[in-house]
Amino acid sequence: MAEQKQSWASEGFEGTKREEDRIAQMYGPNRFWMPVGTQKELIFLDDEPLCFHEHNPKINGDFKNWLTCAQAVSDDGAACCEILGAKSRYWIGYFTVVDCSKYVDKKGNTHQYEIKLLPAKLKSLKKFQMKKKDRGSLVGCLYKATRADEKSPNIGDEHEFQKEADLVKLYEVANYRGKKMSELYSKAVENEDAMRNLKRTFKVQLGTDGKPLPKLVSFNYMSLFEPKSSKDMRMMLAGVKPDEAGGEADEPKTGASEDIPF
Ligand SMILES: [Zn+2]
Repeated sequence: MAEQKQSWASEGFEGTKREEDRIAQMYGPNRFWMPVGTQKELIFLDDEPLCFHEHNPKINGDFKNWLTCAQAVSDDGAACCEILGAKSRYWIGYFTVVDCSKYVDKKGNTHQYEIKLLPAKLKSLKKFQMKKKDRGSLVGCLYKATRADEKSPNIGDEHEFQKEADLVKLYEVANYRGKKMSELYSKAVENEDAMRNLKRTFKVQLGTDGKPLPKLVSFNYMSLFEPKSSKDMRMMLAGVKPDEAGGEADEPKTGASEDIPF
């Protein structure tokens, strides 16, 4: 069936799931990000980042687009590099963290302890690697991040160890896009689709009873960052000009770093 061409329409309800998957991928995890001149606290939930090449093109005036480079899995050239230029891609590693800082959104809702992606480029990756070597592990470690100026990475340029967090207590308050993890886990036990969504987003660990173990886990990077098909990439990148390709040179002073409210 994998060879079968994806059609423009779908009979029955199968397409509903596919569309749900597509939307879920569009609105994936929020990313840890800091405005210039601020400090935030974060707790690592893992310390083995998933690393790969990525593109960050500007689409419709907006840099909030991240695209896994398909060059490594494409035999006949990847659409991303073909359209955006191979130079626009950069090496990135993702961690799963809990953002401990409080944030009030435009609707007045308070956000805190949200599980987010921490995107680290080469220099930051090297720093985190050294910090891991120092401590043995980063899991459960609470760091204070400082972003000094515009030139510093938007995840902060200084990360100072504060203390070991209590991951059991953290489980009670940690949430994903406004929903507590404990609620998401209970819902997944009752509902097949909720379980599917949960597994697509997190590396859920199930107990012998088939229920998720009550603990915080990493994001399911392989599912979240699976490269799009060339067809989907061409659709997404239609009309993007080479000077809007984003990439290493543009980061961190422009683009996504400046307009994400989280
Ligand atoms: Zn590419």
